Amino acid sequence: MRYGTDADLEGFRAEVRAFVERCAPDIPPKAGVRSAEDESELALLKEWTRALFAAGYIGGSWPTEYGGRGSDHRLERDVVVAEEIARHRAPPPVQGAANLVAAALIEHGTDDQRRRHLAGIRSGERIHCQLFSEPGAGSDLASLRTRAVPVGDGRFRISGQKVWTTNGQWADYGYLLARTDPEAPKHNGISAFLIDMRLPGVEVRPLREMTGTADFNEVFLDDVEVGPEALIGTVNHGWRIANSSLAHERSGVATSAVRLRRNVAALVDLARRVPRHGRPAVEDAAVRDRLGALTASVDALSALVYASLTRVSHGRPGPVDAPMTKLMFSELGVEIAAFALELEGESGIVVSGDRALDNGRWQDEFLYARAYTIAGGSSEIMRNLIAERGLGLPR
Ligand SMILES: Cc1cc2nc3c(=O)[nH]c(=O)nc-3n(C[C@H](O)[C@H](O)[C@H](O)COP(=O)(O)OP(=O)(O)OC[C@H]3O[C@@H](n4cnc5c(N)ncnc54)[C@H](O)[C@@H]3O)c2cc1C
Repeated sequence: MRYGTDADLEGFRAEVRAFVERCAPDIPPKAGVRSAEDESELALLKEWTRALFAAGYIGGSWPTEYGGRGSDHRLERDVVVAEEIARHRAPPPVQGAANLVAAALIEHGTDDQRRRHLAGIRSGERIHCQLFSEPGAGSDLASLRTRAVPVGDGRFRISGQKVWTTNGQWADYGYLLARTDPEAPKHNGISAFLIDMRLPGVEVRPLREMTGTADFNEVFLDDVEVGPEALIGTVNHGWRIANSSLAHERSGVATSAVRLRRNVAALVDLARRVPRHGRPAVEDAAVRDRLGALTASVDALSALVYASLTRVSHGRPGPVDAPMTKLMFSELGVEIAAFALELEGESGIVVSGDRALDNGRWQDEFLYARAYTIAGGSSEIMRNLIAERGLGLPR
């Protein structure tokens, strides 16, 4: 079966499309994955997340006792939902880190942890952040230095610094990796925790980025004491837990081709409205060539995404599907946004006001696009993976 063409999914797609049109929050669209700008946007995003869970459009893979569809769940449906949200330029649910937390708790948590946390995720009420990366540990995450020292009765005292923490400024809980055995080989001495972000010793400092918004943060942990209920799974098994929860996030990849297709369509529209050599740019042969090449690249990406999802649903994930998709999506995103600014000419430097084209959409896309080439593994790391796992080249 091929994704995106399966006839019985088309009815579901129409239903989701109507739902998204009716219920998507009234928040001005932005490029990429962004945090709420203020409390009122946050409230809208929480309600949007709640509505998506309540409609059964997300969380389908969860066990039925926590509201999932159990064995009725189909990955194709997650894909359709993610695609329709992206197509509409609606914000994704406040869910990125919550997805990882849910996966970690379902697979490795205690019943008590599942009861305490999963309901708050479903209701959209609880915001989560991912406290993995550090100033000296990103690509090489296992070299992280935040320490969690046992202090008796299953309690730990945590100190260190995290960075790039999306949604940290709004988060109620943080999914944290910390070193619990500094003597063990680096992958074996790490544990996973779910910590209350309001505990004494947690300090969150938002970072304002070149897009003008503060989407991620620095988080400082200074002798933060947590009880045994914060530990996920067993001590020193954090690396395995983090990797297995990351592997659950598959439907995100589906949005990549949809987002870029949407952007190429907007680019063609832009090319109709801006001049080149006294004629609409779209009539220029060189512009048409580039629009054609970008369209072909998005088609290739789309084929790769669906082939990859099909392999996943047959239990045979391709070893380099994810890095190839991530690399192609993020680099193409930069290319499309850069071409839009080129087409805009001198208006390309105006981000707001009467002279700004498309409400500054392309400036925002351009400034954000680079983030995708870093987040979740940089382009260089993706190329390494493709070379080593796909082509069998030496390290
Ligand atoms: C928008 C955004 C949101 C994010 N959100 C979160 C979040 O919520 N939580 C979280 O924990 N993290 C988050 N991250 C962090 C992200 O996972 C890291 O930025 C990423 O893993 C890269 O790590 P780094 O920034 O430390 O760069 P480094 O690892 O220091 O890399 C610096 C440069 O060196 C290159 N490089 C490194 N190693 C190699 C190598 N072996 N071979 C070749 N080149 C190499 C890299 O490609 C890069 O160009 C986010 C990042 C971004 C951009």
